[in-house]
Amino acid sequence: MIQYSSFRVEDLGEAADSIPAKDPELKVAVSRLPVVQGGDAIIPVCEPDLSGNEERYVLECVRTNWISSAGAFITRFEKRFAEFCGTKHAVACTSGTAALQLAFYTLGIGPGDEVVMPTFTMVATPNTARHCGATPVFVDSEPHTWNMDVTKLAAAITPRTKAIVPVHTYGHPVDMDPLLELARSRGILVVEDAAEAHGATYKGRTIGGLGDAACFSFYANKIITTGEGGMITTDDDDLATKARNIRDHAFSKERHFWHRAVGHNFRMTNLQAAVGVAQMERVDSLVQRRIDNAKRYNGHLKDVRGITLPPADANVRNVYWMYSILVGDEFGASRDELRRHLAENAIETRTFFIPMHLQPIYYRPEYRGAFPVAEMLCRRGFYLPSAPTLTADQIDFICDKIREAAA
Ligand SMILES: *Cc1c(COP(=O)(O)O)cnc(C)c1O
Repeated sequence: MIQYSSFRVEDLGEAADSIPAKDPELKVAVSRLPVVQGGDAIIPVCEPDLSGNEERYVLECVRTNWISSAGAFITRFEKRFAEFCGTKHAVACTSGTAALQLAFYTLGIGPGDEVVMPTFTMVATPNTARHCGATPVFVDSEPHTWNMDVTKLAAAITPRTKAIVPVHTYGHPVDMDPLLELARSRGILVVEDAAEAHGATYKGRTIGGLGDAACFSFYANKIITTGEGGMITTDDDDLATKARNIRDHAFSKERHFWHRAVGHNFRMTNLQAAVGVAQMERVDSLVQRRIDNAKRYNGHLKDVRGITLPPADANVRNVYWMYSILVGDEFGASRDELRRHLAENAIETRTFFIPMHLQPIYYRPEYRGAFPVAEMLCRRGFYLPSAPTLTADQIDFICDKIREAAA
């Protein structure tokens, strides 16, 4: 049953200050832009690059009539994605949310279970736990990587904890070794939410193969896209077989239209997988372009007072899904003033996630003051244009406008 919450921002008390206002209106100022992309008069916060074989492969689906979830592109996409993550299996599905749902469901997460995750994440992470009947348990972020604070993990674990979900925030991997050690010693499952971290590595190991399963998203702004789409990666044969079965109504092999489990329809279409295969042909350069964007931004912004650059631990490869910064008091303008100035110059930006513990659907009075780092991130953070199509001139222009706002 759907129920809409009537919770108001003011009901958060002091934490209400952390909640960002509506986005500033973008002024379209063509003449002031150095480069205008695809006829757009703005610099979008993100857009996909579909300039490879995407069109050709989609046309091939249409011309051959293979447009639903049977078709050669699905298996090609899954095989290639598993290779990319270094896992035995990859199971394609309809979205990153569906991937989480499918992973939780096939791993047996259900009513009475607790699923530990960062409060600083996208709403799909706790929602999918909730849809399984489980309870999301939130952990604060660590100040230097913005990821779930692994040192606070032990305190969140109870006898009901069934799984931990590390979220590789904005493309920076979680410190997985202590997390995995803790999970293994307590017999707790680990499901990576890797929706923002295609191609990231932790101590040389590729994200997606570090826990029992990992979930990726292929939404249009993600590092690899299929429009909408998702993938579970795993080394577990049984989990992969079950996930394939559950995504397809749990049809049984015994006879047609015979079901021994309650399944879902989470099937990706061949049309989507066609886009995915074309994206995977260029995956290394699509990842590299985001890293290059970050390098150029960092070069400009490292000396700007009051700006905190995105995290970059020495033992990880951050893939900078979104180029994210914090605005401190020393900057001379607030985060929202800076965003307004950028919007006036046709530069689109986005504030960080509003932490889950402050959401009308998850808020509890005992959360007050319990997650100070996540609230600080929400108050100070936002991301700059991060598309793989972004040009060096555009980054230079954006950084000029940031300096202008500080003056
Ligand atoms: C995008 C995202 C998801 C959901 O993916 P969809 O494909 O949009 O369903 C889940 N978790 C995180 C951290 C995300 O960024």
